[in-house]
Amino acid sequence: MPAPLRAVTLTESFVSTTHALTTLVEWFLPPALRDANPDTVRRAKLCVAYNLAVPIWAPGFGVLLWVLGQPLIGAIILGASLLTPLPLIVLRRTGSLVLTGNVIASIMSVVTVICTWLEGGLGAPGVLWFPLVPILAMLIAGRWTGVAWTAFNVLVLLGFYVLRRFGHAPVVGIAPDTLALLHMSLGASATIVGFLLASLFESLKADALSHLEAANRALALARDQAEAATRAKSDFLATMSHEIRTPIHGIFGMTELALDTTDDTERRDFLNRTRACAETLLAIINDILDFSRIEAGKLELASSAFDPRGLVDGVLDTLTAHVNAKNLELLGWVDETVPARLLGDAGRLRQILINLVGNAVKFTDDGAVTVRLEAAGRDPDGAFLLRGTVEDTGIGIPANQQAAIFEAFTQVAGWTTSTHGGTGLGLAITRRLVGLMGGDMQLESTIGIGSRFTFTVRLGTAAAAATPAVELGGRRILVVDPNPLSRSHVAEQLRSQGAAALAAGDAAEALETLARTRAASLDALVVNPPVPEAERKAFVAGLRGIPQLARVPCVALVTRLHVSGDPTFEEFAAVVPKPVKRATLVAAVGKVFVRAAAAAS
Ligand code: ADP
Repeated sequence: MPAPLRAVTLTESFVSTTHALTTLVEWFLPPALRDANPDTVRRAKLCVAYNLAVPIWAPGFGVLLWVLGQPLIGAIILGASLLTPLPLIVLRRTGSLVLTGNVIASIMSVVTVICTWLEGGLGAPGVLWFPLVPILAMLIAGRWTGVAWTAFNVLVLLGFYVLRRFGHAPVVGIAPDTLALLHMSLGASATIVGFLLASLFESLKADALSHLEAANRALALARDQAEAATRAKSDFLATMSHEIRTPIHGIFGMTELALDTTDDTERRDFLNRTRACAETLLAIINDILDFSRIEAGKLELASSAFDPRGLVDGVLDTLTAHVNAKNLELLGWVDETVPARLLGDAGRLRQILINLVGNAVKFTDDGAVTVRLEAAGRDPDGAFLLRGTVEDTGIGIPANQQAAIFEAFTQVAGWTTSTHGGTGLGLAITRRLVGLMGGDMQLESTIGIGSRFTFTVRLGTAAAAATPAVELGGRRILVVDPNPLSRSHVAEQLRSQGAAALAAGDAAEALETLARTRAASLDALVVNPPVPEAERKAFVAGLRGIPQLARVPCVALVTRLHVSGDPTFEEFAAVVPKPVKRATLVAAVGKVFVRAAAAAS
């Protein structure tokens, strides 16, 4: 049902003087326009009302002119009023306001131009009617139609002036008294019509504004309701997860106690599984709590000074246990461009890294997982931008699911859910945490090749106490590591400390490298040997067989698996536990040099 016209303003009384006129206006509205947007409906109603008003008003004006001795002009105006059904037919048939507005403006314009010319050109009262044409055209058909008719009427008036200037204008043949009466009546009617149109515009504006205000009120109400619902949801989740966490801690405690009371292997296995399930449950509850806090805007970031290198080392330590069972290198690197102390929420940055590195380890069976922090410049406010990259050589993520995995409770369809578990909340939380820290995240991934997650966060920088650097300047060190990623990582860490590091994958490559670089003597060897003892010894023997390497002190990178049988590493001058941290590596190599220097003196 179309809304009835409101008759509150003078304009609207022009639009709907009587109930009959209102009904007529409704009736003439083309069905196609009845459900259009409110602005279009208003324009259509104006168009109909104007066409219904013309036959009431124009014939009277035609008769007046006739009486005043202007029968031709009077007849033209009468004839034009007979054309009023034409725009109504056009509107009903086409439903086009632009076309109908132009038809109305054309009829008005033709009548105005002819009558003005017949009355005597620029001196005639018809000139007063010109401004109404573009106003009406604009109100019905829109701004550009109004612009076109404004230009047209200005040109016509200019044409009248040029013709008059060159003596081609008609002479005003009307008696001065009649001319004055005509000026008065046409001026008065143009003023009234102009006023009606202007007040109609005002009422259209007021109507549009009240619609807007009503829409804004509805939106504000909807927002308040949504916020209240979110608050209620997060309060519920916070209470619920707190309530669940308490009994889970009870399960932990009781399981620990039960484990202490039995040596029965089967029972211990059951209890260990119970504890693992409780751990998973606690992780899920913590994720849900974090997610609901972020969604409700209740998560506040802390700010304190922290050491980014220590933070990365801590992340590697936490995840080492998950790596040891796989043929996987876990590598961490904090670039020289990152200051020694940063200011920000270290706990949340750690959570971001743990999520990303944890996923990378979970979905990678062999190769390497690398985590890297570096400077990404400063933002316009001068804050330090830290870029983190977590890269793996794992299963990869299909291109069509890369956007979806950042949504809550979303995992790559089918193939990882069943095999790797998880809730699908980790990345959703991670991306929101990165957003809270003023940054963004990107993902590049290829199936079967691996994935790279990159993020940037805004942090402050804090003054750092100077730590004495271990000097490796100019030392010639050869890194022998079959894993290319780990090899270049270790070499890079040594180079960052000033060492001249060379790299090779095995003994043959080491020989080649030494020949190529014409290295006469080396200061140290850093090796990543295989785990089984026999293979390890063969690996070292192979290297020792190379004359330049026969006596060079050798530092080994060892995993927990190496150490589990408590072997002695008599073939090495020092061992560095994996994942390799720069400080530990450099300290171990530095100590070897100090010992070598002491032995030589
Ligand atoms: P969860 O690991 O708890 O399932 P996440 O939001 O952390 O949830 O990850 C969502 C999904 O994205 C994972 O289930 C997995 O399918 C996919 N995914 C995330 N990281 C990797 C990665 N490094 N390699 C392959 N798939 C990944």
